[in-house]
Amino acid sequence: MHLIISRFQHETNTFSAIPTPPESFVSYWGEAAQASLRGSDWPMAPMIEMAQHTGATFSTPVAAEADPGNRVADVMFERVAAALLTDIGQGCDGILLELHGAMATESVDDAEGELLARLRAAAPGALIAVSLDLHANVTRKMIDNVDILVGYKTYPHVDYRQTGAHVAELARRALGAEIQPLTRWRQVPILAHTLAMGTDNGPMKEAIRLAREAEQHPAILAVSVFGGFPLSDISDAGVSVVVTADGNADLAQQVADRIADMLWLQRKELIYKSPPTSTSLAMARALAEGPGVGPVLLFDHSDNVYSGGTGDSMDVLQAALEAGLEGIVTSPFCDPEAVAVLWSAGAGAKVEVEIGNKVALPFASRKRKPLRLTGKVLCLHDGEIAMPDSIYGAYHQSLGRTVVFDTGSARIVVSEKRNEPCDVKLFTDLGIDPSEAPYLLIKSRMHCKPIFLPMARGLVQCDSDRGGPTSSQIDLFPIQKMRRPLYPLDRDFDWTPV
Ligand SMILES: [Zn+2]
Repeated sequence: MHLIISRFQHETNTFSAIPTPPESFVSYWGEAAQASLRGSDWPMAPMIEMAQHTGATFSTPVAAEADPGNRVADVMFERVAAALLTDIGQGCDGILLELHGAMATESVDDAEGELLARLRAAAPGALIAVSLDLHANVTRKMIDNVDILVGYKTYPHVDYRQTGAHVAELARRALGAEIQPLTRWRQVPILAHTLAMGTDNGPMKEAIRLAREAEQHPAILAVSVFGGFPLSDISDAGVSVVVTADGNADLAQQVADRIADMLWLQRKELIYKSPPTSTSLAMARALAEGPGVGPVLLFDHSDNVYSGGTGDSMDVLQAALEAGLEGIVTSPFCDPEAVAVLWSAGAGAKVEVEIGNKVALPFASRKRKPLRLTGKVLCLHDGEIAMPDSIYGAYHQSLGRTVVFDTGSARIVVSEKRNEPCDVKLFTDLGIDPSEAPYLLIKSRMHCKPIFLPMARGLVQCDSDRGGPTSSQIDLFPIQKMRRPLYPLDRDFDWTPV
């Protein structure tokens, strides 16, 4: 038995100011792709382990990933497709892929659907088994070209490995002719907001509970609930439910429809309404003055890198400084120009510098202006930070040259590259103990929650009133291609899963 195992990950924000050329990808090819997964928890790792345990031969044409940004360059997509098709051309029994499910390229809105269709055409007899992110915008083309499909069941995503292992185990059973997997889906006309997709409360928690309950049935192999990725102006953006079953298509459809119906009935709770920044900051101040220990977390979801943010939006920090908050520590603001100024000034130097708001936003008519700040350079760092024990598995973050800049009210981390912290080591390696900061302002939506909430006295979500690069105010974005009607863009329509 011969397997093809690969990963190709990108969450495409079609409104993002950040392009995604081939150089944005960390890419490994062939043997190096396999080696790159050693010690990792990405879904591809247990897929490889399954092949090793069963004694199957396998090849790993590619393992490639880029941080979220705008459409993936066609040339990168074609390079990945060609690598897979070359190996598939030599014959295979199964194709196991770790994909995201919300990738768009310069010329294709449904990149995963296109890729899977090409693989299916090249190897019509091979089993195709795929893991997807919970933020996948699932399409008919994807469903038509897979046998097994499993999505993450957690957001924040802490089940990469379990999801990959689930795919691998079902693939093993299918290749051994123990099961005959088929996949059905139901698309729900809801453009859910990312902040309302957390799986520890609300409709997504209930949907995942129903999914796990349905998986207890011997013929139900996997049930996946996709919140979708709303910052993607493609026809299929939004919520869907996917069920892989053993031979029983009707049962698979029934399970998908039951959960889809529940999500539709609770659709109002899948929408997040941002309060004004001033309201969020007043809540933060009240929390800081109240009981408890640790910092108050200010999550700036108007600009989170892991949704395609620029990492340089100053709105929330500026509002916090104007509101008089003291003792702020920030996660990295990406500004290579400011880093150059601070770096050449050197540690200990007093500097006046313009930070952030420099990357033009393609959809925003308003002109952004950098924030002029005076302060002292505290720390210079090469930005290479190892995180062997991160909650997301072993990580290495490369921030580029990184500086801690102290304005008196805030210690601002400024880096050459965009990043969201994957571990507290991002701060401690820079000489900052985040647990002692009164306020920790992090450009993140959910990703940083499991890392920092345990040490915090509270969490306040902050949006920019004027709309940042990844604002949760979805109506600020010029949506054109999404199918309609789609709640909450349209509110006056009814729907049942038929
Ligand atoms: Zn995700």
